[in-house]
Amino acid sequence: MNTSRSEALFAAAQKLMPGGVNSPVRAFKSVGGQPILFDRVEGAYAWDVDGNRYIDYIGSWGPAICGHAHPEVIEALHQALAKGTSFGAPCALENQLAQMVIDAVPSVEMVRFVNSGTEACMAVLRLMRAYTGRDKLIKFEGCYHGHADMFLVKAGSGVATLGLPDSPGVPSSTTANTLTAPYNDLEAVKELFAANPDSIAGVILEPVVGNAGFIPPDFGFLEGLRELTNEYGALLVFDEVMTGFRIAYGGAQAKFGVTPDLTTMGKVIGGGLPVGAYGGRAEIMAMVAPAGPMYQAGTLSGNPLAMTAGIKTLELLKQPGCYEQLEARTKRLSNGIQAAAQAAGLPICGSSISAMFGFFLCEGPVRNFEEAKSADTTRFAKLHRAMLERGVYLAPSAFEAGFTSLAHSEADIDATIDAFRESFAIIA
Ligand code: PMP
Repeated sequence: MNTSRSEALFAAAQKLMPGGVNSPVRAFKSVGGQPILFDRVEGAYAWDVDGNRYIDYIGSWGPAICGHAHPEVIEALHQALAKGTSFGAPCALENQLAQMVIDAVPSVEMVRFVNSGTEACMAVLRLMRAYTGRDKLIKFEGCYHGHADMFLVKAGSGVATLGLPDSPGVPSSTTANTLTAPYNDLEAVKELFAANPDSIAGVILEPVVGNAGFIPPDFGFLEGLRELTNEYGALLVFDEVMTGFRIAYGGAQAKFGVTPDLTTMGKVIGGGLPVGAYGGRAEIMAMVAPAGPMYQAGTLSGNPLAMTAGIKTLELLKQPGCYEQLEARTKRLSNGIQAAAQAAGLPICGSSISAMFGFFLCEGPVRNFEEAKSADTTRFAKLHRAMLERGVYLAPSAFEAGFTSLAHSEADIDATIDAFRESFAIIA
């Protein structure tokens, strides 16, 4: 595989940007070797700057659920572009996407659009505190809620991948109110509430974890959190930046039938443009400025291009059969990966829900981040390289979920399983 242009560009990039990238995990630090620089993406595929083609299981880290550069999204964007890129004033497109989100997501009666998942989570925490008049929050080890100070405690995603404890530059006063518990551990949450009965504003979590590898909630975990937060007058917040419109059209909350008070979203709702959102019960959202006193704003928030890409993406996802197709193909992929590892005599555990999947190279089950850390990351790095050489682009970390799209064909899944079979045989 010739990657000489990627190598030259990355060498130059390292002098221009910290680590040569604008977001850490892209640098391939935990899998070693050289990152691949993309030139273009379409459908299930990405082409690098040397002309190599990959079946892409990152999908821009989630947004590309209809496949990259879907022709209808691109066409809608062309039309929107002709009217200008940003208004800084209200527009009808915001109503349209807001209505679609409200119709789809059970907890959302009102919504505010922002520009990233980080922004959405930052704002939702302020709202949790404003509404309850309490300062503490509970988050789970290995869950990632963007890079705002208050969440950089035992965080997942790149923070976990790079093994950074807590980031320098985050004052301990900022995280003093951040309490953490192991995922899937209701008892630990109960103890935190019992010790702080009147001071916890709420609990925030990934209802299906994607940032510590792929970890589904145990049966009863989400329900238990709903009961505990109700009991203590605290808010339950689902961070559905990753799972929203991916686990189901209405997100994990629709799939599992547990309705939080507030929800954060991103990725899919922007159809590949920068969008985040937070929403929830109207009575709580009424606190957000200018309806209420909790301040939050954004120059480019609700811009017509991002709204257009989001609306078209949700329209595509509303077509019958989408989630059934995503579920069936992703499950076949997940089963194929595990069978391939077992055939090579390698320990593996993994699963999928709808268009999200993951595996750990260890005996399972993995129910929390501590257990995830027992996965063989050295072997994962070798696997990652072997898969790249066979034209399959996986997240460059043992602690990230994989994403499929409507553009991944049965033939793509077959080719991917074949590549896993060969790669596992090589690294075993
Ligand atoms: N929450 C979750 C669950 C996420 O997966 C991410 C991003 N991977 C974020 C928040 C932050 O979103 P963004 O990168 O758009 O700031």
